[in-house]
Amino acid sequence: MEMTKILKEKGVVGAGGAGFPTYAKLKREGILHYILNGIECEPLLWVTKEILKRFPERVARGLAALKDYTNSKEAFIGVKSKYKHLFGKLEEFVKSENLDIRIFYAGDFYPAGDEQVLVYEITGKIVPPGGIPLMVGAVVNNVETVYNVYNALFEEKPVTEKFITVSGDIEKPVTVKVPIGMKVSSILEKLGIEYEEKVIIDGGPAMGKIISKDDVITKTSGGILVFEKNHPVVSKKMISIEQILRKARTCCIQCRYCTDQCPRYLLGHELEPHKIMISLAFNLEERFLKSALICSECGVCEMYSCPQGLSPRRVNQYLKGVFAEKGVKYSAEKREYSARQNRDLRRIPTSRLLTRLSLDKYEKKPEFIDEKLKTAEAKIYTKQHIGAKAIPVVQRGDKVNEGDVLAKVDENSLGADIHASIPGIVAEVTEDFVVIKGEE
Ligand code: SF4
Ligand code: SF4
Repeated sequence: MEMTKILKEKGVVGAGGAGFPTYAKLKREGILHYILNGIECEPLLWVTKEILKRFPERVARGLAALKDYTNSKEAFIGVKSKYKHLFGKLEEFVKSENLDIRIFYAGDFYPAGDEQVLVYEITGKIVPPGGIPLMVGAVVNNVETVYNVYNALFEEKPVTEKFITVSGDIEKPVTVKVPIGMKVSSILEKLGIEYEEKVIIDGGPAMGKIISKDDVITKTSGGILVFEKNHPVVSKKMISIEQILRKARTCCIQCRYCTDQCPRYLLGHELEPHKIMISLAFNLEERFLKSALICSECGVCEMYSCPQGLSPRRVNQYLKGVFAEKGVKYSAEKREYSARQNRDLRRIPTSRLLTRLSLDKYEKKPEFIDEKLKTAEAKIYTKQHIGAKAIPVVQRGDKVNEGDVLAKVDENSLGADIHASIPGIVAEVTEDFVVIKGEE
């Protein structure tokens, strides 16, 4: 069967971002650089590093298969040099199997794992603002995505589980595999982590979002962080957009630190958050406001740069919503871009970000639990990816096994099929989700 069809049917989507279906990135020509993003630049998270350390054969074979299928000229695995000691087995395997894959060691700065930053660091090419890596001949995949590609291609295994790091202000951080659809509260209870009166974040401290204990794990969940309500990471996320806009209009001193340290500005993009802030305050040129559309939401400006405690990132998120409603898209001003002078000197060392966010004491390696957590109930969404919702093919009362198809995406639509993550009985079916009740 064609690789693209297998990956769609096995439900493989980007595990580290918005869930773009992996098969849709695979072109048979025009790809020069196939890049595996093993950077994991958000502090506290260890999923990518654990997968690369524990399953180097799967990841390397998955990448080699993708490189061959797409006829890519070269393939890289990008990791941080700080963690080189973890990747000895990976290096050995690539060498012993004679795989045409190179390991790229990046510096320890934030956000080294931003897709466009990584493409530049490896290839020296700049993806135009608002563009995708393919525009410069690159494809970037997350490590867990390629681990899932291996499982789909070589073991006929669909995506039914997710690795997550559970960390933050807790005694024993861990990295563990959980069934997709498992409730966050069940995970925390099983791990003996107190969460009442605390705030739960899905993803890393910089880019993650506050979630509820009743939310469930999806194919794109990044991790679970638990903090006290007054922790700086949390308070920045809890301010209302009204307060943020009011402060943006009254407190910006136009120091331009947010711009000078913005990773996308440093790549030469027309993104100058200080100009967005002043334009918002005084209704100046819409051109500057529109540049919010090319913000990656990395959070450098909000978490690190601004001496006034302002949040250009949240302003940009808000403006993206406004422009989306109006149907406004970004169009790049030029075709060729070059990085700003002194870019290397302006990158943010991860250690300084950790200190700024009061995270130093939590930055320890989580224990790896080598056994999947069990759950008696899984709520599995029919849209865990970019594209069309999958249409349920099961009914209430059906008996399912782990890996059975629950919902399918039409062959002409973008999307990926959805599978049962636990064995049990289908208890509820809507167009948005399927609930399975099983036994622990
Ligand atoms: S969040 Fe801030 S620093 Fe990051 S890309 Fe957007 S404007 Fe630049
Ligand atoms: S860093 Fe803060 S105060 Fe300075 S220009 Fe940017 S938003 Fe304004």
